[in-house]
Amino acid sequence: MPQASHRPLLIKGGLVLTMDPALGDLDTGDVLIEQDRISAVGPRLDATDADVIDASGMLVIPGLIDSHTHMWQCPLKGAGAGLWGMADYSKHVFPLRERFTAVDMYDATLAAGIEMLDKGITTVLDFCHNVMTPGHAEQALRAHWDTGQRVLFAYGMLGRFASLEADQPWRLEQVRSLHRQVSEHASPLVRLGLALSSPEYAGMKLVANEIEAGRALGLPMTFHQNPPGQIRALHEAKLLDGDIVPVHANLATDDELALVAACGGGISFTPEGEFGGGRSMSIIGRAHRAGVTPSLGVDVPSRVALDVLAQMRLTFSVMRAEEATVERQTGRWPLERHPGTPHVEPRHMLEYVTVNAARAVGLGDTLGRLAPGCLADVVLLHTGPYGLSLGDPAAHVVLQSTVADVDTVIVNGAVRKRAGRLTDLDPTTATAATRRVRERVMATH
Ligand SMILES: [Zn+2]
Repeated sequence: MPQASHRPLLIKGGLVLTMDPALGDLDTGDVLIEQDRISAVGPRLDATDADVIDASGMLVIPGLIDSHTHMWQCPLKGAGAGLWGMADYSKHVFPLRERFTAVDMYDATLAAGIEMLDKGITTVLDFCHNVMTPGHAEQALRAHWDTGQRVLFAYGMLGRFASLEADQPWRLEQVRSLHRQVSEHASPLVRLGLALSSPEYAGMKLVANEIEAGRALGLPMTFHQNPPGQIRALHEAKLLDGDIVPVHANLATDDELALVAACGGGISFTPEGEFGGGRSMSIIGRAHRAGVTPSLGVDVPSRVALDVLAQMRLTFSVMRAEEATVERQTGRWPLERHPGTPHVEPRHMLEYVTVNAARAVGLGDTLGRLAPGCLADVVLLHTGPYGLSLGDPAAHVVLQSTVADVDTVIVNGAVRKRAGRLTDLDPTTATAATRRVRERVMATH
């Protein structure tokens, strides 16, 4: 595991977007890192013994957090391109998981982790719904420890559909065993979570068993909320709480959103996958207004790029388009601002992938902000050679920045990318791992 330097690290003279309500933005500011934590944020910090990263001309933001991605699909990039709805996905992509061996899980997860770090994604919730044998989970975890990304490894309870009930005992036993292993491992970066079986496949009784087991271990939990009514069903079964993050929830009613908000919960949206699949996108705006904390994910690397910056831009456009359509259809046209409308600004998108997503992965107190005491996950974005936008610098991140602007990536105080190049990982390692998986998985396709 890459280690933070024993010497302090000073990020000097950048435009700092702390995403911390008390600290706000610093037009020219410094961030001091000691070991794995941020120790100070402010103008002209005094740290004579520190290694210095010159951040002049750069935006300094918290590391990007993806709250829902199936990393095992990384080598299947393109297999899902242009799919038309769930029927295509169920026919052409999802069945490929049964061809993955444990070795493939290692390679796929390694490839995804390297690429995500390169693109500024310092933390991910890996929704690993491809635990076909215990070895699959062990090897995916091993890859996470090797890449050194911050990970909530959401152990997938949804195995083979024909034997969900019969398989549940060994799966839960492995979850307990992995929880011990992860807790005792030298790296604090990987934590265990639980990706619940989908209630429409497993039934509420099995899902209730999983939630009970997850709560006994204090694991953050998440599940695909696809058919309508599942949030209410969890509430009525007295199972809904803020430690469960539904994903998608496109058909959730306003009452259900109020239930999620009442327990301080969030929802993970995967806008490119949802939008391209024809799902209702009014949900993100409705959730935002209801007080639910939205976060964003790539979801399916088989059809969506591992690029959280792109998800922010798409989400903003989708939310604005949806809101503008309502205005037009209700006769408020041409568009004019009035109280409460429009209800999101570009900066909200950056909140979705930092402070909100930190809550989604169970680290809301210590991650997603650049503030003293927070975990030192930081990204520096170039604004050159063409310069910073006018107005809110957060809008520059959301609407102008691309992965080509990712100059520096710091995870847990360790510099993982500097001056546009990964420091201790090699992109060719990822391409080789992808090639190996394709040779093995697709050979008989
Ligand atoms: Zn998903």
